[in-house]
Amino acid sequence: MDDPERLPLAELANWLRYYRALGFTHLYRRKPQQTASQDGEETLSVAAPAAGRAESPGAPPPANQLYLSAALPAASSPRGAEPGMPTAKSPSPAVPSPPPAQAGTLFDSVAPRETLEQIREDLGDCRRCKLWEGRKTIVFGSGNPRAELLFVGEGPGADEDEQGLPFVGRAGQLLTQMIEKGLQIPRPDVYICNIIKCRPPENRKPERDEVAACRQFVERQIVAVRPRVIVALGATAAETLLGTHQSMGSLRGQWKEFRGIPLMVTYHPAFLLRDPNRKPEAWADLKKVLAFLHSSAVGEPGRTTPGAVSG
Ligand code: URA
Repeated sequence: MDDPERLPLAELANWLRYYRALGFTHLYRRKPQQTASQDGEETLSVAAPAAGRAESPGAPPPANQLYLSAALPAASSPRGAEPGMPTAKSPSPAVPSPPPAQAGTLFDSVAPRETLEQIREDLGDCRRCKLWEGRKTIVFGSGNPRAELLFVGEGPGADEDEQGLPFVGRAGQLLTQMIEKGLQIPRPDVYICNIIKCRPPENRKPERDEVAACRQFVERQIVAVRPRVIVALGATAAETLLGTHQSMGSLRGQWKEFRGIPLMVTYHPAFLLRDPNRKPEAWADLKKVLAFLHSSAVGEPGRTTPGAVSG
């Protein structure tokens, strides 16, 4: 096998496109130190895992992250788990370790990330599922394309369908309060989108085929924004992004991961409007998010770091 450190750039870019098509979002560049592996072969050494990650030397990386030395020769199949699914090694501490992407990946340096504009263009005048028939407007998403914090809801309601913007109705007003009064972040500094982009009739829950047709877009939006934290609002967002059918009771307040990005599940604001007694729980979840953002602030240009935790 060719030394991956010496591949021509064009060939390396092809490999990266191939792995991205398979769902791997992170390949790590390492300093090439020569070490002897247990079976005596020379391998490129594995860099120290990101701080706080309980990975043993030689342990496989999460399903959507491959180390360059392992990735390039293995043109066969990804390592078992579906990309985007949490792995057994996913951290679930009170304050999770920062996503490894901060170390700088080969995708960052070789393959330019897709932009939100490109994703919106690809979505086009979408007719991939039956919801196009009843919608007025496609509700793509809004906010800072380089937000540190990204919220994912379920799907547009009547007000959103009318205005073409996510979370502008009553639930949206509560979400705005949670962001601006609770987290003390101006709403335009975060990014907000939904699992599905078109309003379902009578605001019913999106059906399985509708989610299946649309989920690629929210996933690509998340990859494009590359937030430091995702907040999944309610069961549809949590189930879709995590690939699980666990109850909200067991998911909320827990740190999960979506493609290496820490993800917090909390109640949907529409649920909180129906049951305001649950607001303290939602606030407890958001405080964990804020604590994490503060504990791992990186201050990249164009990024915004939220205000102090209160109450
Ligand atoms: N509920 C959602 O899930 N999303 C919106 O945009 C509005 C209400």
